[in-house]
Amino acid sequence: MKQNTPKPDKRKYTLMIVPHHGKSVFSINIPIKTVKYAAITLGICLTILSGTMLNYRYQANTATQEKQELNQLRAVNNKQHVELEELAKATADLQQDMNRLNQLDTDLRRIVNSEDSADTSRSAPARLTNYNGQGGPDVQPNIAELKNLVKELKEAVNERENSLRNLKSSLAEKKERMAATPSIWPTNGEVTSRFGWRSSPWGTGSGDWHPGIDIANDTGTPITAAADGTVVNSSWYGGYGNMVEIDHGNGIVTIYGHNSQNLVAPGQQVKKGQLIAHMGSTGYSTGPHLHYEIRVNGTAVNPSSFL
Ligand SMILES: [Zn+2]
Repeated sequence: MKQNTPKPDKRKYTLMIVPHHGKSVFSINIPIKTVKYAAITLGICLTILSGTMLNYRYQANTATQEKQELNQLRAVNNKQHVELEELAKATADLQQDMNRLNQLDTDLRRIVNSEDSADTSRSAPARLTNYNGQGGPDVQPNIAELKNLVKELKEAVNERENSLRNLKSSLAEKKERMAATPSIWPTNGEVTSRFGWRSSPWGTGSGDWHPGIDIANDTGTPITAAADGTVVNSSWYGGYGNMVEIDHGNGIVTIYGHNSQNLVAPGQQVKKGQLIAHMGSTGYSTGPHLHYEIRVNGTAVNPSSFL
């Protein structure tokens, strides 16, 4: 079979134009080549146009996506901003609490250490910039400042903890000292003889140095330890009759004389207010009473100054 090879097309398209109203018909001859070129050009134009449209749609989609992402970022940013402000507020509140603690510490020390201020090294509470815990976040908080604030707070907390620990041990020491100080009356009754020079109870007419106080009551009236301590003597002791002697430490000793009965033994630990003897009139005595004596470093002192 013979294959037809396409020959250059010399044909022409004839375009006939038939106007209305009976005017004469005219025709235009267009070479087929021109029609082909026009078709190709149109094709290219359509391709470019559709490409442009696709590109436009792609761009539009991307823009929408970016806008959404931006909105999400903004939302996250706003949330972080709010959280940051809340954190700043919470930190400022903590600082306020800390300041109150500092004040409490100071007040406590003033009460406890009215005479001895062992710890005067306390520095004033740290002043924190910008935050006073009132009126909301007029000042924009920032991370660096917050970090600094937290660091200051940590230091303040450590300092306060040390201070309170010292205060605690100081209080414990003070409590111990107070427990070991003969500050209560050892019995009930009437003071019949005070500390110091007095006229002799034996009717000799001469003066007599009385190293304690005498408290009179019925025989058998309870006698209690005036402070915490250790019994160092519980026996008959000359003119004191039945006597109890208690060592309270710090050079302080108390003596309870003329007892009808001693109830403690040497070496025994006693507490303030603990029953140690019953009142009597043993030794040199004119009637049932307690001879109560306090000695500091071996010297009798006026018990009234302790009561
Ligand atoms: Zn006496």
